[in-house]
Amino acid sequence: MTDTCFALVDCNNFYASCERLFRPDLRNKPIVVLSNNDGCIVARSAEAKALGISMAVPLFQAQEIIDREQIAVFSSNYALYGDISARVMSLLEQLAPATEVYSIDEAFLDLSGIGACQPLSQLATNIKQQVTDWTGIPVCIGIAPTKTLAKLANHAAKRIQNRWRC
Ligand SMILES: [Mg+2]
Repeated sequence: MTDTCFALVDCNNFYASCERLFRPDLRNKPIVVLSNNDGCIVARSAEAKALGISMAVPLFQAQEIIDREQIAVFSSNYALYGDISARVMSLLEQLAPATEVYSIDEAFLDLSGIGACQPLSQLATNIKQQVTDWTGIPVCIGIAPTKTLAKLANHAAKRIQNRWRC
């Protein structure tokens, strides 16, 4: 019997969340972020998704709804996203025995054996709260015995969160 346990921490709507950090007036407002040459939409806040804005849609195709719904539009700023990603990842390294950065907005935490010491759901709640408090970036966390299942659990957590809009 193995007690391996992984958590996948995934930043929500990462580029849009980074832009919102510096524009608190856009809290609960729809935001989209554009690709390098401002050609396509590459990130959407939850509010923009709810308005039906699709991923990777060319900007000109969404222009009408952007104007009508007063959606905030940002050119991408990868230096900013990289810097905020580093802050999130270094915080996660302090919160878990071992971490593996998986992408700019995702990391696996190795929580093997920790479940014997404290409830993993409580640990996940604490990590989620601390990342939000310290970096301003909202995250979802999935926990499972394998990395693949943790990714799936994270996907489920995002869907549940979106349904409840919490
Ligand atoms: Mg993400």
